[in-house]
Amino acid sequence: MKVLVINAGSSSLKYQLYDMRDESVLASGRVERIGMDSSIVTHEPADKPEVRQVSEILDHVTAVKRVAEMLTHPEHGALTHMNEIEAVGHRVVHGGEAFSSSVLVTQEVKLEIRRLFDLAPLHNPAHMMGITAVETNMPDVPQAVVFDTAFHQTMPNTSYLYPIPTVLYRRHKIRRYGFHGTSHSYVSGQAADYLEKPIESLKMITCHIGNGASCAAILGGKSFDTSMGMTPLEGLMMGTRSGDLDPAIVPFVMNKEELTLNEVNSMLNKHSGMLAVSGISSDMREVTEAMHEGDKNAKLAFDMYTYRLKKYIGAYAAAMNGLDTLVFTAGVGENSVALRKAVCEGITFLGIDLDEERNEERRKDVREISKISSRVKVLVVPTNEELLIARDTYNLVKKSKTS
Ligand code: AMP
Repeated sequence: MKVLVINAGSSSLKYQLYDMRDESVLASGRVERIGMDSSIVTHEPADKPEVRQVSEILDHVTAVKRVAEMLTHPEHGALTHMNEIEAVGHRVVHGGEAFSSSVLVTQEVKLEIRRLFDLAPLHNPAHMMGITAVETNMPDVPQAVVFDTAFHQTMPNTSYLYPIPTVLYRRHKIRRYGFHGTSHSYVSGQAADYLEKPIESLKMITCHIGNGASCAAILGGKSFDTSMGMTPLEGLMMGTRSGDLDPAIVPFVMNKEELTLNEVNSMLNKHSGMLAVSGISSDMREVTEAMHEGDKNAKLAFDMYTYRLKKYIGAYAAAMNGLDTLVFTAGVGENSVALRKAVCEGITFLGIDLDEERNEERRKDVREISKISSRVKVLVVPTNEELLIARDTYNLVKKSKTS
């Protein structure tokens, strides 16, 4: 079965075409600047050179049409005909309390995703445009949706409730949902497979550290707690997001700086974190480089970033009353030797003993970076959210065909 995975944003659409017989990627690409002039389609077939096209793509329906043209192109395509695609899987950021697993798209599912627009105004409407665009272009192909929040629906209420008037939860569903669930779920499964241990027996902390960053306490394979909350702003310090802070800062800054709510929101989401403290960049590579050249603000940003991550790891080890496995993933987690070293060296009391040589190895597969004797196993696991979306979509469609 061939499965197309789509991640639709408000002005972009990323895609990946899988052959599920061996889970190989036949082609991938992205459409950027949808709705603007000079939209760009970048198409990367598996075994042919990349193709780039600039044209006018006014909406998502046209974007999917262009993707279909690319995928079936006689020279750089990967398919003879679009009807070779038997299923489409979409990434959807917010599944609220309604979705604790991936589902096939139905009228009710679409209605529920619409109800959740309020909780993810920047993401869910764009995902809906992606779903509708596929419906228009490929009306007979079943679609599935895979939610960033679903994996965390197993959190107990002690983890997901905020200590504020409960009427706000009842009326507006204000609670912690958590994000990056597809990644936390994928890497925790990979880690258990690597260790050849049943996931049900493990106390694991997974650290998804990229531009956005979150960690999760995974008890027996189920999310027990995670650092992002009702929105992806809570938790760890990130590239441009503040993470945890005293909520009283919001009205205080609004008053002192005469800022609107939108302006403070933008400050905390886009102009804080590593970027604000370093004054250099939100990119860990640039900050680390500046730190090694002696820049004091870069060092402060790096130290705060790793300190806050260490605090979460300590908190989650306490929350689970133990820890067997610590996993690093995503852009920073997979690549930053310096970050992993700084974090692991500060929490040796938990039974973590980092092997410096193994930490410095640059490989693309799952690898262990703790010493053989380390009580807690520390792993680097490359994340692959698209593959998990493809797998869930494949399984759902296969099941619906046999039932
Ligand atoms: P992601 O959001 O998972 O794509 O991660 C993106 C982030 O990964 C970038 O902003 C970089 O800060 C970070 N990154 C990528 N490569 C490296 C590297 N070699 N060393 C340190 N950080 C890296």
